[in-house]
Amino acid sequence: MKASAGGYARAESVRHALDLLAGSEGQGRVLAGGQSLVAAMNMRLSVGDLLVDISKISELSGVAVEGDILRIGALTRHAQVGADAQIKTHAPLLTAAVSHIAHAAIRNRGTIGGALAHADPAAEFPACALALGATMHAEGPSGTRGIAADEFFEDVFTTSLSEDEILTSITMPIAEQGEVQILEEVARRSGDYALVGLCLIKRAVGHRIAVFSVGPRPILATNAMAALDQGDVDAAVEALSNEIDPPSDTQASSAYRRHLAGVLLRRAVCRMKGETA
Ligand SMILES: Cc1cc2nc3c(=O)[nH]c(=O)nc-3n(C[C@H](O)[C@H](O)[C@H](O)COP(=O)(O)OP(=O)(O)OC[C@H]3O[C@@H](n4cnc5c(N)ncnc54)[C@H](O)[C@@H]3O)c2cc1C
Repeated sequence: MKASAGGYARAESVRHALDLLAGSEGQGRVLAGGQSLVAAMNMRLSVGDLLVDISKISELSGVAVEGDILRIGALTRHAQVGADAQIKTHAPLLTAAVSHIAHAAIRNRGTIGGALAHADPAAEFPACALALGATMHAEGPSGTRGIAADEFFEDVFTTSLSEDEILTSITMPIAEQGEVQILEEVARRSGDYALVGLCLIKRAVGHRIAVFSVGPRPILATNAMAALDQGDVDAAVEALSNEIDPPSDTQASSAYRRHLAGVLLRRAVCRMKGETA
């Protein structure tokens, strides 16, 4: 099946893109890397849109350290995220995530902003954003705003972005001295979406755990975090099991996903301590 006929416009700047969206009477759809949107259009899950192509807006791409904050432009492609030295130093969780995302061709086109705005519950970057305590920066007709990751992801493929807003960048605190960031996931084949995935961060103030592919959006497992802060791994696994309500589908049962989440937490803790799982 091929996509239905729709309009197309290439935006020259963020302002131009916002004007195109505002004039589209609700039919405007931002096109970034096209790796999820075009597939959805081909399946007629998205019909009759005006595609507002932002892919040539250079101001939306790139990585910068601003004091103790790392900023990544929304159009920065997965492959660039994976190869960037500043990201590897200051947010190694994102570097680790890239090797789990799809295949080289998709990583060369897909963008971090597209992955965040798409909000697939099995995707790596949304969970990383949650674990890192990232902020999403959006621009719309009435100006700019920052949205904390725990308020950004609302439901399956649903974020708190408005239809007339564009995600412009994502910021996060740079890793402190001695901070540990680990991503673990299980997928049926390399490059497939995760059956379950888990991000573990250890900071001086405590642990952060974000889990994905266990519900409609990534979740911060706050009870498991508290148990790990007390050094009780068994209690953390138990708490995690009670904090998630994974779906059953053709890939895995709910019980298996719940079991996997505990296995991944134990693996991540072993890696954090420098032990083999
Ligand atoms: C076969 C296959 C396997 C994949 N496997 C994985 C995987 O394992 N893990 C994973 O995380 N992803 C996976 N993906 C998805 C991939 O990471 C996509 O690149 C990503 O989800 C979307 O990024 P994009 O730049 O291509 O966005 P697009 O496809 O262009 O857009 C996706 C959605 O986000 C919106 N959007 C995009 N950019 C912005 C913006 N700046 N502001 C506002 N809205 C915006 C669009 O309007 C659209 O609704 C896979 C894709 C394919 C085709």
